[in-house]
Amino acid sequence: MTPELETGLYIFILAGFLGYHVISRVPPLLHTPLMSATNAMSGISLIGSMVVAGAGHGGLSTVFGFIAVGCSSTNVVGGFLITDRMLKMFKSEREHAAQAASFFRGREAPIMLGALVALLIAGLFWFENLRNLLGHADLSEGLKFSYILSAALFILGLKGLSSPRYARRGMFLAELGMLMAVVGTLFHPALISFRWVFLGLLIGTVVGGGMGLWVPMTAVPQRTALSHSLGALAATLIGVSEYIRHHGELGKVLMTAIGAEVVIGGLTFTGSLMAAAKLQELLPGAPITYRGQNVSNLAVLVATVGCLVALIFAPGAATLFYTMVGLALLFGFLLVVPIGAADMPVVISLLNSYAGLADAAMGFVLMNKIQIITGSLDGTSGFLLSILMCRAMNRSAVNVLFGAFGKIEEEAPGPAAEAKGSVRSITPEEVSVLFDSVRTVIIVPGYGMAVAQAQHGVSELAKLMTKRGIDVKYAIHPVAGRMPGHMNVLLAEANVPYEQLYAMEQINPYFPEADVALVVGANDVTNPAARNNRSSPLYGMPILEVDRAKSVIVLKRSMRPGFAGVDNELYYDPKCMMLFGDAKESLSHLFVALKS
Ligand code: NAP
Repeated sequence: MTPELETGLYIFILAGFLGYHVISRVPPLLHTPLMSATNAMSGISLIGSMVVAGAGHGGLSTVFGFIAVGCSSTNVVGGFLITDRMLKMFKSEREHAAQAASFFRGREAPIMLGALVALLIAGLFWFENLRNLLGHADLSEGLKFSYILSAALFILGLKGLSSPRYARRGMFLAELGMLMAVVGTLFHPALISFRWVFLGLLIGTVVGGGMGLWVPMTAVPQRTALSHSLGALAATLIGVSEYIRHHGELGKVLMTAIGAEVVIGGLTFTGSLMAAAKLQELLPGAPITYRGQNVSNLAVLVATVGCLVALIFAPGAATLFYTMVGLALLFGFLLVVPIGAADMPVVISLLNSYAGLADAAMGFVLMNKIQIITGSLDGTSGFLLSILMCRAMNRSAVNVLFGAFGKIEEEAPGPAAEAKGSVRSITPEEVSVLFDSVRTVIIVPGYGMAVAQAQHGVSELAKLMTKRGIDVKYAIHPVAGRMPGHMNVLLAEANVPYEQLYAMEQINPYFPEADVALVVGANDVTNPAARNNRSSPLYGMPILEVDRAKSVIVLKRSMRPGFAGVDNELYYDPKCMMLFGDAKESLSHLFVALKS
């Protein structure tokens, strides 16, 4: 083992532990911004890609480097912009007022993006001259310091995410860290040609900027999946490019690192593309399963690993190398095929973790320590988030890791299923009469609120209720919706101050005192079967205890079940009333009725 490899391994392990401690302090409120922030930081593969694109190797190496620069910078710019957009929404009442009075009124991102594009265009034409003017001064010491400082700023950036109050400041530090690393790399001694580097940066900034500024919040999961695929593509291309450059003459350590990079990168690339396509409904969301699927998937994985092991002993076998790349791409595709669209957030978190590992492997190939650190942080974050999601859904990690999820078994008939009674429906006018005597309301949003885009309606109704002297709180289940922190992001978009959002453990003691629990498009996360029906697939999942409120009003379109496909016994409770219809329409009728 070379001393460099030894140091790299120490760094990888320590960064993983540090990442675990910092990331486990991020509250569920900020889990979606955490996903996009780590995604942006994993774009640090940019610096390795810049070196490959600008080292003047020519041929495929430069082309692959250029594509990798474009992909990585798309992730950096898009990831940071969308994180900032989300974090800007998480405001207290005081911060909402301050933003309305500020000079920029939230327009600083497009202004900065414009300035960055202008700088990159200038760099495309003049940076080479500037670099020549500086002569061949040895700037490698300065470069090392810029990388060390960047690594510290990334960790401080993640630490900022432990509270919405400091989150934006933290992300600013992480952005500064990225800027220092990129500017420092422009002075890397191996960089001799800048045209492809700046062109890649420019294209990535424009594409990532567009995605970061205009992608709707509801499309954040598919944007994140797409970004993982771009990051993984960058890692794979750099791995292939390094293999070509060394003409197959590689030591065992380097071959292992390149192999790990292209295998993890390849499977993450196709897996993430599949996940994005399923979420965007370009592909059918239903799980596709067939007989012997697990065995055939395992066979492909074993063949891929077999190729890697053989290559470590015979690195010159180029056909074997390309077969391994092809198998890894196939495996990523096969891994995601049997998983339903609704389960994609868990898959995305796992792929986030894989993308981080591919990034770290690229750090080992190029012996770039900052890439090893960010790759390890990203890997830990993705893994931790998937574990947290599994726990909140009462799913085992093994169930997730082996991909046998997405198909929910039929609910076995249990005591609760037999105890169904009649269902009471209610009209908006009747609800408004009921609200005359109400003092406390807990709003419980769920996936249906996202489908109906009813978050603004919810916020308006809550404001009206508050004006009428009703105490309003929001109850947020960690897996309500279809991605971690989904409800927080949507309600923040509708200007709901985060002090009014209560996590499950905080709000559950308040339900017995609440006059009304107003359930807006939530289903599974309110199902009492999770508490008292052992035969239900939901049994054991922690829920929002809405059935303990004095009365419950549920806004949904029909009696259809939610994600888990099981009936909700709450709807048969005599104190539960169903306001059937699209949540957005029901809320607007309710608003009119309550106002008049
Ligand atoms: P849910 O159980 O999936 O229920 C959503 C309900 O919304 C449905 O019953 C549906 O009923 C209703 N709905 C849909 N469109 C509507 C509209 N336009 N207007 C009004 N209602 C509408 O949602 P949930 O309670 O939020 O629970 C989330 C589920 O997703 C959990 O089972 C969780 O484990 C799973 N999950 C979450 C994540 C995550 O990260 N958050 C990840 C993977 C899986 P109608 O069709 O009758 O209207």
